[in-house]
Amino acid sequence: DVLADQIAAGEVVERPASVVKELVENAIDAHSTQIDILVEEAGLKSIEIVDNGDGIATEDVPLAFERHATSKITTREDLFKVRSLGFRGEALPSIASVADVVLETSTGDETGTQIHIKGGQVVDHSLAAVRKGTDISVKDLFFNTPARLKYMKSPQTELANISDIVNRLALSYPEIAFTLSHEGRELIRTSGRGDLLQVIAGIYGVQNARKMVQFKGENVDFEISGYTSLPEFTRASRQYISVLINGRYVKNFQVTKAIIEGYGSKLMVGRYPVAVLNIKMDPLLVDVNVHPAKQEVRISQEPQLQELITKVIYKELAKENL
Ligand code: ADP
Ligand code: MG
Repeated sequence: DVLADQIAAGEVVERPASVVKELVENAIDAHSTQIDILVEEAGLKSIEIVDNGDGIATEDVPLAFERHATSKITTREDLFKVRSLGFRGEALPSIASVADVVLETSTGDETGTQIHIKGGQVVDHSLAAVRKGTDISVKDLFFNTPARLKYMKSPQTELANISDIVNRLALSYPEIAFTLSHEGRELIRTSGRGDLLQVIAGIYGVQNARKMVQFKGENVDFEISGYTSLPEFTRASRQYISVLINGRYVKNFQVTKAIIEGYGSKLMVGRYPVAVLNIKMDPLLVDVNVHPAKQEVRISQEPQLQELITKVIYKELAKENL
């Protein structure tokens, strides 16, 4: 049902960056170790994601484009137990209902498949000799929903949103090699060797990576580790602070605030650090029901966690003799 898919698309795919997010998350779920993202005209003309993951078996390809045909988990509660990002089975049908999509995929043990869907209608579906993994190309996003096109911001802003998404996915998965290029120009490249500082260098540059301080600490319920920037390397927004719980990117205002408080009075007004904080904790202490799509979470023992973060960062920065 194309109309239902387009309505769902209104929630799942607001802008090019949301398409990138959904497709890259699918590639991650498929155990890819290399994910290349190629974008043209800030994603409105073309978004292509090439992965070397599990691929989709020929007989499952049409299913993948049906709503709620997720091969993954079914409840939100599973989210922090299973390391899978998708769970609604809405992304592919939604995207295919508002764009011109070509998917080529192979599991590696049989002939691959190619399917071409435009505005929710299958244009072509055939067997194809392709390497293991999935290559999905999304062209002319929102070509048939002009109202949505009107909501697009400037190309710079849309591209910045795409970069943000790729940045935080790369920070969340240091063991996956990512590239992002826009019109042939490479914007992000990470090695996939699992070293968080290397990922930071791949995103913020080698010079800036030298301005990061490593920290580590724990209490009964939490283990924290990561990198945070010296007060000389700051940004005008909090969005360069990435928080991951058990390897999953989350948003939590109190945790972000705790990092900033670790700086005491070392930050200038309106400036925020660049930071990556990994929290390891019992998944049962995370409540994801606040808004699963928006990544906001509530954490039990939050004050104790805040205190730990602020203390550990404060201590680490104090060593730097600022
Ligand atoms: P969800 O991720 O919520 O399951 P999607 O609509 O994003 O739903 O994807 C539908 C299904 O298509 C997935 O469950 C998965 O089985 C398959 N799929 C999508 N993208 C890929 C990919 N890059 N590699 C392997 N399988 C994929
Ligand atoms: Mg998905």
